[in-house]
Amino acid sequence: MRRRLPCKSGRVLSIPPLPIAAPVGEAGSDLAVHPVLIVAVIAIVFYLASCKFHPYMKCKACNKSKESHSTTFKGAFGKCRACNGKGHSVRWGARFLGHKD
Ligand SMILES: [Zn+2]
Repeated sequence: MRRRLPCKSGRVLSIPPLPIAAPVGEAGSDLAVHPVLIVAVIAIVFYLASCKFHPYMKCKACNKSKESHSTTFKGAFGKCRACNGKGHSVRWGARFLGHKD
């Protein structure tokens, strides 16, 4: 079955049906796992492995300068409040793995 969608120019676009992935394993088996679930688990494992070896990311507020500059008084600056003057923050996955600052 093809779905038909009108586009801005008035032409009708024909979109082929989405391929539906068959579950891995025998049909009717209790151990059948959906391929999307396998891909999600692999992506999570890669992300957590990345967080294990690279637990930090640069501070988005100060861009690793560790300084917060005053917008009112020219030249005045202090410690970045977002990262507390460290210049980096701990990634969510590293925090999940128990990494602290
Ligand atoms: Zn910062």
